[in-house]
Amino acid sequence: IQTKLPKVGTTIFTVMSQLAQQHNAVNLGQGFPDFDGPQSLRDALAAAMNSGKNQYAPMTGIAPLREQIAAKTEALYGRKVNADAEVTVTSGATEAIFAAIAAVVCPGDEVIVLDPCYDCYEPAIDLVGGRAVHIPLTLPDFSVDWQRVKDAVTPMTRVIMVNTPHNPSGAVFSAADLDTLAEITRGTQILVISDEVYEHIVFDDLPHQSALRHAELAERSFVVSSFGKTYHCTGWKVGYCIAPRALSAEFRKVHQYLTFCTFGPAQWAFADVLANDPQHYLDLPAFYQHKRDRFRELLAPTKFQLLPVSGAYFQLVDYTALSDKDDLGFCEWLVREAGVAAIPVSAFYETAPDARIIRFCFAKSDATLAAAAERLAKL
Ligand code: PMP
Ligand code: GLN
Repeated sequence: IQTKLPKVGTTIFTVMSQLAQQHNAVNLGQGFPDFDGPQSLRDALAAAMNSGKNQYAPMTGIAPLREQIAAKTEALYGRKVNADAEVTVTSGATEAIFAAIAAVVCPGDEVIVLDPCYDCYEPAIDLVGGRAVHIPLTLPDFSVDWQRVKDAVTPMTRVIMVNTPHNPSGAVFSAADLDTLAEITRGTQILVISDEVYEHIVFDDLPHQSALRHAELAERSFVVSSFGKTYHCTGWKVGYCIAPRALSAEFRKVHQYLTFCTFGPAQWAFADVLANDPQHYLDLPAFYQHKRDRFRELLAPTKFQLLPVSGAYFQLVDYTALSDKDDLGFCEWLVREAGVAAIPVSAFYETAPDARIIRFCFAKSDATLAAAAERLAKL
């Protein structure tokens, strides 16, 4: 058959998780916590299922959850959003990203993505006939070279996609990044898709620079988040998209026929914990900062060189002192020989830079991090 996605194989996350299982390795590859979210969340899910909330949810998401999301957005980012018209609950951030792209990208349109970028962006762009234009972030700090972004803009540019805190690097935007993005898009038809799934995982007292904080950017942005990251339940696949009324209307046309609606009981559970336990996400930066610091301490005596991390739950390391293999070859070797799974950063690039960098996920119990570090210290 004619393939629509000739470049796409099985995702690196699945490949490395399977290898980890095969080799009985400590899995620091695919990004997911090896611990559960709050007991109150799971109790609320069971309560929803046991009280008859098992039929289709409203297409846009249940009202109490959209209202909680709107209230949180105003409290944290100072932006009043309309819960009815501007907030849509989705089946994970992955669905939201697909729906946003499909809603606005026409055949032949260009979408600027910043490499390394999350792996679901480009296939979505390809499927709707758009073209991803890849601009590399600048190493070693994975900052955006905004001049290069500006130079890449053409009359065909429809969307610029950004991601802060950034997977895989852990880099975060500054307020100046948002200002520059606003400046580049000012007076154009360019829209922004801002992937903010790690919005509550930012370290060192830095603020999360949501596009929603920026009045001008918010007017042209789809802001996407995921409860999977915030509540340690990546398997539930519930996320949301906030966008101005007209953009949300287009977004909903796609969402309506992609999934129609998102798993209902989980929506009731999130509405419940957002209302009753906002402290959970306020505590998340300190919770993950502790893990980041612990993991960095554990890796300090190893031959890996640690790159800085300001957000999300990934630690990039340079393995030049250990091997001259390419990063995929090194990850395959590492899972087999050391019993630790990681992700090769080249998987997030169209054209990988000449660097030897892999990604470890530190969303793990302290015991798991210690077990991995013990194995890595032997190399
Ligand atoms: N964007 C980024 C940057 C991510 O890391 C992830 C999850 N790994 C997603 C989107 C997808 O989130 P979800 O699991 O809610 O679909
Ligand atoms: N977002 C996760 C990561 O970056 C992977 C999710 C997936 O496997 N699709 O590791």
